[in-house]
Amino acid sequence: MPLNEPTPEFLSKLASITDSATPAARYLEEPRGRYEGQGVAVVRPRSVNKVSEIVRLCNTHKVGVVPYGGGTGLVGGQTSIAGPKPVILSLERLNSIRDVDPADNILTAEAGVILADIQNAADDVQRLFPLSLASEGSCQIGGNLATNAGGVNVLRYGNTRDLCLGIEAVLPDGSIFGGLKRLRKDNTGYNLRNLLIGAEGTLGIITAATLRLMPKPVEVETAFLAIPNPQAGVEILSRLSTQLGEVTSAFELIHRQGLEFLNETGIEFTEPLPSNPEWMVLLECGAGGDSGLKDNLERILGDAFDAGLIADAVLAQNEAQRQAFWNIREHIPVANRRIGVISSHDISVPVSQVPDFIKRTAQMVKSINPKFRINCFGHLGDGNLHYNIYPPKGAKRAEFDGIRASLARNVYELVDGFGGSFSAEHGIGRMKKADLLKYSDPAKLTAMRAIKSALDPNGIMNPGAVI
Ligand SMILES: Cc1cc2nc3c(=O)[nH]c(=O)nc-3n(C[C@H](O)[C@H](O)[C@H](O)COP(=O)(O)OP(=O)(O)OC[C@H]3O[C@@H](n4cnc5c(N)ncnc54)[C@H](O)[C@@H]3O)c2cc1C
Repeated sequence: MPLNEPTPEFLSKLASITDSATPAARYLEEPRGRYEGQGVAVVRPRSVNKVSEIVRLCNTHKVGVVPYGGGTGLVGGQTSIAGPKPVILSLERLNSIRDVDPADNILTAEAGVILADIQNAADDVQRLFPLSLASEGSCQIGGNLATNAGGVNVLRYGNTRDLCLGIEAVLPDGSIFGGLKRLRKDNTGYNLRNLLIGAEGTLGIITAATLRLMPKPVEVETAFLAIPNPQAGVEILSRLSTQLGEVTSAFELIHRQGLEFLNETGIEFTEPLPSNPEWMVLLECGAGGDSGLKDNLERILGDAFDAGLIADAVLAQNEAQRQAFWNIREHIPVANRRIGVISSHDISVPVSQVPDFIKRTAQMVKSINPKFRINCFGHLGDGNLHYNIYPPKGAKRAEFDGIRASLARNVYELVDGFGGSFSAEHGIGRMKKADLLKYSDPAKLTAMRAIKSALDPNGIMNPGAVI
């Protein structure tokens, strides 16, 4: 059913129930500058009841609503680009931490709380909220849930979905789903919480969530390794989990190209390893007190060195050095943006297949243009790579606009052949809709359409996104 252009009557009713304003530029931009957004008004409600009133009005008038969190989404999910202009509903004023309970290891936050503020609130009670992304200073927990964000600690703690026990949300008819459960066991029919998580605002607006807190590791060890090739990384990861159990929280693959981009774009950093290796791993492990983590880690890394899996390694000696290591990893996406990517891919394949995937994809890219630069990095521990292709040094990405689509298709065909996913952690948004249609199971697509039309028969929720 087509949506309506907002009428003056609708806008005056909207203004009578909430402050509404012409959207400022920041609500219409997105981090990669690929889309220019549109919106008839931005509203910033302070309560779930107000969100409900706004959504009910939009549903009655068949006007679209785009939920807006921190605006850091990388697939255009928060940016309407076509069709009748929607209302942009920003969660920024719904930003209280309602409760922190270290005894139950639970924190209840409203959707607009910035991720870093949740991490800090957990830290204040000697707990860990392990979701960690480079955008954590701007993204909101509602956006994290809506995108089921991943980040660097998925290996040990899971995606955002795994960190959420309950959800409060406003459904497309304006009804309030009061699902702020604090239970670890609750097998009572269809799981609406899990349906809303990862739905990118197409099935409702998340207004609050109960989140799981973890014990804070007493000892944390962070290391930069030089490895001869990605296969060595996979083998080291396997040795760590076999010998230490689930203590590895991050296992990031980094290619030399990433560090060269830092140099090229003037981002200051200290070379972590004197040998300037082609492939590196940044790993982090954490454990309780008296676990002997450091000794065990040194022993495992020493054995890996003897086996030729590590060429060089440095363990962070203090928090400043640890931060310096993570600064390198977190600034790689910043440098990437400054260089200007031709085609970027947030993909996953089974961990054991990562080395073969990297080899075959590089062959494909170089066969198209041997001077293309590849920055392949990411969460090796999850089989999730950011496989990005850049113009030769001195050239501009615009010169290669004509081949972007075919490059991406070639990468996704390889991913599909490895049984992988064309969108490991960023979602579908508006950017990857065609890929969803191409690579998804037909029965899954039929079920998705049925769910969407059952919950949102007028199609008001984030129109044009996902499906
Ligand atoms: C530098 C950088 C690094 C990043 N690193 C990672 C990473 O490691 N892993 C990762 O997974 N992502 C990463 N991202 C992507 C992004 O930060 C995540 O997708 C994040 O979860 C988006 O949160 P947000 O609050 O900014 O949401 P927005 O960008 O505002 O919105 C994203 C989507 O969620 C919907 N939405 C927002 N809030 C709600 C709500 N309350 N209810 C319903 N729907 C809502 C929007 O409509 C949109 O579809 C990165 C982005 C940047 C810029």
